[in-house]
Amino acid sequence: MTYKAWFDEHATKHKIIVDKLISKKFTKEQIIEYFDFDNMVKEEPNFCPLYADNKKCHDMENLNCYLCACPNFRFNDNGLESYNEFKILSKCEIHNGEKFAHKGLIHQDCSKCTVPHHKAYVLKNFDLDWKKIMRECIA
Ligand code: SF4
Repeated sequence: MTYKAWFDEHATKHKIIVDKLISKKFTKEQIIEYFDFDNMVKEEPNFCPLYADNKKCHDMENLNCYLCACPNFRFNDNGLESYNEFKILSKCEIHNGEKFAHKGLIHQDCSKCTVPHHKAYVLKNFDLDWKKIMRECIA
């Protein structure tokens, strides 16, 4: 799956859930709480493939799924830029995380970064429209 295909699919799933919560008159705080990992596993099993195994993408308490992926993520399936013989497909705008190379391509590795999964970060960057928060991700 390309980055763009994942991005569009995730945006659609996110919007369906947020629209449902808005129709139930959830407040901003309640919506953020709803996106807590433990609740999402129970209530929205199809939102993330990891939920089926009750597995977190990051080993942390109170992991919040509202801002998966991350507003700092940048990607372009055709390449953001080149590095020697490699094409860089994704990177972190604030230079967190790591990178890995595979088959001539360099990808951003966010597996050791928990920035977007903290409730305080979600509160600070909150908008009902996930695509608006992620508007700079497609570079
Ligand atoms: S490394 Fe962290 S801050 Fe950077 S894009 Fe990945 S999750 Fe976001």
